[in-house]
Amino acid sequence: MADISEINQFDIAVEQLNRAAKIMNLDKNSMEILKVPQRILTVSIPVRMDNGQIKVFTGYRSQHNNARGPYKGGVRYHPQVTIHEVKALSMWMTWKCAIAGIPLGGAKGGVIVTPQDLSDRELENLSRGFFSAISDIVGPEKDIPAPDVYTTPQTMAWFMDEFSKLKRHNTFGVVTGKPLNIGGSEGRGTATARGLAITVEEAAKVLNIDLSKATAAVQGYGNAGAYSHMFLEQLGVKVIAVTDSRGGAKRINGMSYKEVTAHKTKTKSVKDIKGSQSISNEDLLELDVDILVPAALENQITEKNALNIKAKLIAEAANGPVTPKADDILFKNGSVIIPDILANSGGVSVSYLEWVQNIQNYYWSAEDIDKKLKVIMVNAFKDTWDTSKKYHVDMRKGAYISAIRKVSDAMKIRGWV
Ligand code: NAD
Repeated sequence: MADISEINQFDIAVEQLNRAAKIMNLDKNSMEILKVPQRILTVSIPVRMDNGQIKVFTGYRSQHNNARGPYKGGVRYHPQVTIHEVKALSMWMTWKCAIAGIPLGGAKGGVIVTPQDLSDRELENLSRGFFSAISDIVGPEKDIPAPDVYTTPQTMAWFMDEFSKLKRHNTFGVVTGKPLNIGGSEGRGTATARGLAITVEEAAKVLNIDLSKATAAVQGYGNAGAYSHMFLEQLGVKVIAVTDSRGGAKRINGMSYKEVTAHKTKTKSVKDIKGSQSISNEDLLELDVDILVPAALENQITEKNALNIKAKLIAEAANGPVTPKADDILFKNGSVIIPDILANSGGVSVSYLEWVQNIQNYYWSAEDIDKKLKVIMVNAFKDTWDTSKKYHVDMRKGAYISAIRKVSDAMKIRGWV
């Protein structure tokens, strides 16, 4: 597995764009605009730490494209955040919103920090400081952030509160992924994984996989990974291995979502579950399972380990877990990848529904949200599948071609190109 700090994520995003652009004959002018974010803001955030000293953190917001609607994308707190990663993630958000068919553009934010090292008070001050620093370029009609790695509904509550204070009125629609009692949406917490499970169900239909007999492994046991376990289990899939940043567990007879989450709540990790063998992240990826769900960080499957991957179906809960070279190897070997911009687009889709509810100030039930999400995901899967068949390419290229077409059409009709 590659050290993620070694790979420039933005180069990968541009390479993916180039590959799709070539196949679909994208015009040069659209390419000129799409290959760079429209705006990148770097901010310094001074925080008074509990010991009285000031520490300055660096944060970014990259706004890739808003031809189809306001920018949209999460904010990540992680020590390995780089400007390249944030730019790449913002470009992926543009494609993700387009493939989901929701009227939003792409953005992403990040702060270089190890959140576990900060007290709650320090984290709150950092979050308020970051949002205040980017407040000129965000807003319900401009750019709507959301949670990502190590940011939570609580972080979103601080963001929204800080923005509302600056504007001197409540502005719930400035962020999504908020707690339910302050403008959050039913189903947002589980949306990414629910969307992923819907795409797995659709893939199983076209690939003739019997999910009631299928096995799976999940890398990363946070929001996306743990709930993916829950929804896959509901489809009859047996999860036989899980990992998180502290270690992993494998049990060939399977392990239930309830058991793993109870263990993780108690011990803070998935490792050492009763009756399990320990397993590394690297080994989990190479297990002989039907479905592999990378749900941690980028660049987990590269040309170095792609040949060892045995899963028939890879559902990318994480953004960018497979590099382009690994994509080619896996495609040749017959593995099917449900690409991140499709597989994890349930999160941004319910974020979109949350934003709509905030704007209209009328809220839907969990059943309503699930129905709407299902329609979005089934259509997005069909769009991707049909495009990949039409062009005889893998699903990632299919998703890119369809998404890029929608964005470039919007730019053309607006007169940008
Ligand atoms: P999270 O913070 O809830 O969980 C991250 C998990 O990954 C944690 O369990 C952590 O222990 C684990 N992890 C971290 N480093 C690891 C490593 N080196 N090896 C194995 N596990 C490791 O984050 P999340 O929201 O679940 O996001 C995970 C991925 O899913 C990210 O790529 C994110 O961009 C993507 N994603 C999340 C959402 C969402 O709505 N949460 C939406 C779309 C995409």
